[in-house]
This record gives sequence, C-alpha cells and structure tokens, in this order.
Amino acid sequence: MSSALTTSSVATTSAIEPAIVFDRVGVTYGHGRKTTVALADFNLRVAAGETVALLGPSGSGKSTALKALAGFVRPTSGAVRLAGRDVTDLSPAKRGIGVVVQSYALFPHMRVHDNVAFGLKAHRVPRNEIGNRVTEALEMVGMGAYAQRLPRELSGGQQQRVAIARALAIRPNVLLLDEPLAALDAQLRQTMLGELQQLRKALPDTAMLYVTHDQAEALALADRIAVMRDARLVDIDTARKLWQQPSSDFTAAFIGGANLLPATVKHVSGTAALVTVGEHTLRAEAPRPGVGRPDWVPDADAQLCVRPHTVQIAALTERDVLRGTVVSTVWKGATTRVQLTVQGLPVEVTADVPGHSELTVDDTVGVRFPDPAGVLIPPAAGTPSAADESEVRA
Ligand code: ADP
Ligand code: MG
Repeated sequence: MSSALTTSSVATTSAIEPAIVFDRVGVTYGHGRKTTVALADFNLRVAAGETVALLGPSGSGKSTALKALAGFVRPTSGAVRLAGRDVTDLSPAKRGIGVVVQSYALFPHMRVHDNVAFGLKAHRVPRNEIGNRVTEALEMVGMGAYAQRLPRELSGGQQQRVAIARALAIRPNVLLLDEPLAALDAQLRQTMLGELQQLRKALPDTAMLYVTHDQAEALALADRIAVMRDARLVDIDTARKLWQQPSSDFTAAFIGGANLLPATVKHVSGTAALVTVGEHTLRAEAPRPGVGRPDWVPDADAQLCVRPHTVQIAALTERDVLRGTVVSTVWKGATTRVQLTVQGLPVEVTADVPGHSELTVDDTVGVRFPDPAGVLIPPAAGTPSAADESEVRA
C-alpha cells in the first residue's frame, strides 16, 4: 500500500529539485504599528523521503512556516516551491499537501469514513476510487475498524489517527504535521511516536515537516532538526550533530539541556583546547568553526557546554575532584538532578546522577567533569566579550 501512496499528485516533479524549498520566506502579520514579524528570511530545503523537525519555543514562527508552505498564509516576501514548482500563489487545495494539526480538526457530525473522504472529494478523486482510498488510509493508521464511528465516539489518540489518515488519503508527496501529539497525554504520546516512526518507514518517498516544541519528538523522528528562535532559523543539522556540537547556547540548552560555563580559550591544537573557567583549567573539544562564527584563538571568550549527565559526584577525598556544595536535589525516578555551587566556578552546575541520590542541601561533595569537560560554543549573545569581535577575528 505504501507504493500506491508515493505516486505523484503534484505536477512538474524533478529528480534533482528538493521536495520542499523555502526561499527567503518572510511573513508579517498585521498593519501599521501592530505588525508582527512571524518569519524572517527563512530558508529550508527538504528532500523527498526526508523528515525535518522544526523545533523551537512557542511563538518562534514554526506554525507560520508550515502555513506558508500549505498556503494558509501568503508570504510577505520570498517563495515556496514543491519539487521545483513555485506554489507561492497557488490555492492550498491545489498544492497536494497533507496537513495534520494539533487539534485534530475533524468534522464532528461526520463519521470517520466521511471525514477521510472529504479531502478526496475536494481533490476531485473519482467517486468509485474513494472507498478504497479511505480504507487504505485508515488501515495505515490502524483505524480500519472505526470507519462508521463519529469523532466523539473516539479517544483523542484515535481522533488524531483519523486526522493523519485524512492527510494521507490524498497520497501527498509532502506531509506537514503541526504539534500532532501536543494534545495527548504522555503515555499516548509515546505510543503515537512509535506509530509515526512506522508511518515514516511506510512512506519512504514522502517529505515530512514536523513542527514541535518538544525536543524528544524531534530527536525521535527527524533526520534533521531546524531550530527556530524569534522568527528565524538559527541552526540546522542532524540531531546527533546538534547534540554533540551545538553552534549556540540556545541550541545547546534547547536540545538536551546544558551547563554553559563562561570560559576563556588558552590554547588550541586542532580540535582540542585548554580553557580556563573561573579558577580552573579544563580540556575542551573545539569544533572547527562554521561560516560566520569566530575562530577559537587564545584569549577569546567562549562558553563550555557540559551536559548534566556527564558530571559525576564523588567523595571529596577522591583524586581530581572539585569541591562542591549541594544547592538542591530533585529525584526524577531514573535519575536525580543535583544543583551545586563549585569552588572556583562563577556559575552553578547541574549534574544528573543515576538513580536516587541520598544527598541533601548543604552537603559537601567532590565534583568531577569528564575529560574533555565539554564542547566550546560561542560566548553568550548580548554579553560584551573581553576580546571584542574585531580582535577575535584578527
Ligand atoms: P509557533 O508555532 O512557533 O508557536 P507562530 O508561527 O504561531 O509560532 O507565531 C509566530 C508569531 O506570530 C507569534 O508572535 C504569534 O503571536 C504571531 N502570530 C501568529 N499568527 C498570527 C496572526 N494570525 N495574527 C497576528 N499575529 C500572529
Ligand atoms: Mg505553533
């Protein structure tokens, strides 16, 4: 059945053109003094068969990007293309895109079958084909037995499956999902994540754009993650690369959580560096800087990104430990999050230690960073650096 779903419904496809292109797209809402720039100079390419997650906090412009592609908002500038075809001025129905939103948006008075058939009629699928197409789509999401139910007779998760079936029924080359799991409880979200992974496998040629503010969903589903902040795309790479070598403190904190220790570069050799953090000297990974990013040179300001799960707590008597004092502990079941002040460090440190920790507030402990302690990222935006940018570049 998956092969049937991959047949093209969009004209003028080209093997070399990406399935989705955002070309310098800007979207501004409102007029006069009440304007909001919701999307600014947004560039993104998604290949056929690729899943890209748009990840960012609420209000960062994720849904606006999706709506610009689906045709629900008109870009103020730039263009959107599907398989090489400029669709910026095309009506939504003619774009052949499948769209799933958070709120299911099923017609309450229509049975499941008719909800799924609705989009097919709008797309002028011949009457005698509609029954088979509805059955095929419902079976893809495990809802074949529910065709005669009304939406109110279904659970939230089942309603969302129907909404996904409705999007798939038109056999789209491009599937857009806008926080499709946000309305579901945690356990169901986990189940649905697994089902979405299976759906991806069943649709090997479909390009997917998956909007979420939940890093776990992005890590579970996406080939690449596009990080959004304040109407802009600030980072895009594979999940693994963004996790291992985040290019900004925003990305580091948003994906995985991070200790961001203000550091000064002392010595660099290849991709290894020695840095000072407060009174301590630590080894750090120094990834080669990308385009437009400062190089790591002696005396440059930086931040050392140390993942909380890599910080160990040991007895103060052990070798090579720093002296720490517990500020708070939060038991999370599988791990305990321990907040510490560390002698000689200017900021508090968060450690995620396995299991249940017996530590209590004001306990004195040994703190051990891994070696290297973490990865260098540019200094915090907005804080003036000691060596200003012109010096760093020199
Ligand atoms: P996200 O999906 O990342 O939460 P949105 O794309 O929905 O963000 O919104 C981006 C910005 O545009 C926000 O500041 C939001 O308030 C604003 N916005 C969204 N839709 C509208 C609208 N229809 N009219 C005016 N402002 C809007
Ligand atoms: Mg949104």
